[in-house]
Amino acid sequence: VTETCKSITPENHLAHCLDRCRQNNLRRTRVLNWLLREMIAAINPLTLTQLQERAEAGGLDCDPATLYRQIMKLEGIGLVRRLGFHQRSNYFKLLLPGQHQDYLICDQCGAVQVIDIECPVHDLEDEVVEKSGFTGVHHELEFFGVCPDCQQAEKSIAAR
Ligand SMILES: [Zn+2]
Ligand SMILES: [Zn+2]
Repeated sequence: VTETCKSITPENHLAHCLDRCRQNNLRRTRVLNWLLREMIAAINPLTLTQLQERAEAGGLDCDPATLYRQIMKLEGIGLVRRLGFHQRSNYFKLLLPGQHQDYLICDQCGAVQVIDIECPVHDLEDEVVEKSGFTGVHHELEFFGVCPDCQQAEKSIAAR
């Protein structure tokens, strides 16, 4: 864990997100607050359905359309990114400073997981900075495959 990683807490992230919302004149609603906290706490990107389920479980009285509109507003100000790896599922993630993620994506169902291994390309990033003169260099890696759920489904079809 580096110094920069240690200094960023969920509260810092929330403050950063709320600042961005304020700068862009997004009204600080109950839904906005909930959404930001939930997405900061989530490790993996979430679908609208997953967010809706979490909202219901958490007792937030909010219909899917309102939730969707709120996410679109966050996407509009560049705070949320849509990961549209697959037609059937859109995943949403917050873009947070100092945070980078690499992904594993299922070819069949479009499920997205954050890869839990040490990122292999940070040295490369330093080299890119040095050689290109770019600042704010960042990256995301995407690995594709078939998830365990889909493998299981294939097996049970084959066994029939
Ligand atoms: Zn799958
Ligand atoms: Zn990486």
